[in-house]
Amino acid sequence: MSELSGLQIFKYLPAAKKLPEGNCKKCSCPTCMAFALKLAKGQTQIELCPYAPDDLKEIFVQSMKKPQKEVYLGAGKHKVLIGGENVLYRHDKTFINKTAIAIVIDVSQKGWEEKLNRVIDFEITRISETFKVDLIYFKGEIEQELTQKLDKLGFSYVTENDLTEVTKVEDKGIYPTVQELTAIRKKAVLEKDENYSNPVMVYLKSESNLLNLMTKASFYLCKYANLLVFEDFDEALVSTLMTLRQNIYTDPQKPLQVESKIYEFNNPDENALVFLTTNFALTYFAVANEIEALDRSAYLVVTPSEGMSVLTAWSAEKFTAQIVAKTVKQYGLAEKIKNRKIIIPGLLSHMKNEIEEALPEFEVVVGSNEAYLISDLVKDLGY
Ligand code: SF4
Repeated sequence: MSELSGLQIFKYLPAAKKLPEGNCKKCSCPTCMAFALKLAKGQTQIELCPYAPDDLKEIFVQSMKKPQKEVYLGAGKHKVLIGGENVLYRHDKTFINKTAIAIVIDVSQKGWEEKLNRVIDFEITRISETFKVDLIYFKGEIEQELTQKLDKLGFSYVTENDLTEVTKVEDKGIYPTVQELTAIRKKAVLEKDENYSNPVMVYLKSESNLLNLMTKASFYLCKYANLLVFEDFDEALVSTLMTLRQNIYTDPQKPLQVESKIYEFNNPDENALVFLTTNFALTYFAVANEIEALDRSAYLVVTPSEGMSVLTAWSAEKFTAQIVAKTVKQYGLAEKIKNRKIIIPGLLSHMKNEIEEALPEFEVVVGSNEAYLISDLVKDLGY
């Protein structure tokens, strides 16, 4: 049974049944509906309602059982958490623990040290997050000196013996493997069948056709491997998978955001242009790409807006003249430029006067509504 929603819980409570004790507040909530919503989010306890019927208690306890175990992997000091998933589709709620990516290092094979060094050195940064290989999967006898070195470097490593709480699914090609992975996840999530509650791994053997390997690994990452072990290490393949994984393992209720600060483009000097936007990742990248393509240097002031786009942030009061002024002052923009002009998003043209009042030393210029029009705007403004 999947987790109960607030509405499903409410149907069992006195207010829904129009009983006299309905909305009595004994649970410290103003209404039965408020209690039901809190209970569904795990923010209160069912025992706090003295009128909760036994059948609700029974199905609630059942629904709260964790479908998939969380398992820490890593023989050394550093661990990687996998599993704990409780939905089939990310948009139902969110996925929890990223599919871990492990690379096999077989110390009986020639060149293993060079391969290990490549794994250790590998790193990518995307949308303010830096990723490295999650786990090293050792085959053969490893010396203590090596494990101490990996511990020091912050790496997690495992051997076959450390994977006792992980179910292994053989890579039999995309279709049958995804079918098996899906069947296991369905048993765990929909039926809460404890026989299927272990996190699941797929071991991907060496393959000369990288595209084929990439396609399979991408499918398994989406549906539903908790751990992918690769015999070979290819930096491009792992970078692509980590990018895919980052997209899938973001909480759909929390928009991707970039750091709020002043970004520099094309070696800005005191005559650089200054643009302004919010820290919603999509907005940032749309604007940043256009600014980078200009034949001018520029600063981009990114305000903190909880990852909201420009208009949403403004309507939620997360983009105000005060926030703009605070960001500009915090990062010392006035000291960086002679040209005291800030180009604001065209969608916020109505804020021109407010921002000028909050930042009297700057002139506010209304920019374009769309990022792709930035280069035309710069030409039109004669900058
Ligand atoms: Fe409703 Fe029970 Fe809370 Fe009273 S104690 S308001 S009946 S949920």
